[in-house]
Amino acid sequence: MIRSISDRCNGCGICVLACRKDILQMRKEATKKDLAYCTDAGECVVCYVCRDLCPVDAIVVTAEIPVEAFRKHLPEFARLGAMP
Ligand code: SF4
Ligand code: SF4
Repeated sequence: MIRSISDRCNGCGICVLACRKDILQMRKEATKKDLAYCTDAGECVVCYVCRDLCPVDAIVVTAEIPVEAFRKHLPEFARLGAMP
């Protein structure tokens, strides 16, 4: 599950483009800075692509997955070879 995106985020948008589940979006903070955020952590399939592509190491992904999400995505985890 995607755990956090820190304020180191520079708003490049790479993670938003890269996420296979389309659950990363950009929003403007009160600081007028564009920050990435996750719209539905339960949909994350823990592929680590966003974390690995982030140029400033702002994204923390953990292998912890809610049980219901794990059941739902089991075939996808198996296909990705990303069994937690
Ligand atoms: S890749 Fe990193 S720096 Fe770029 S938008 Fe995503 S979290 Fe922010
Ligand atoms: S780990 Fe994969 S599925 Fe989860 S938010 Fe990042 S790119 Fe999307």
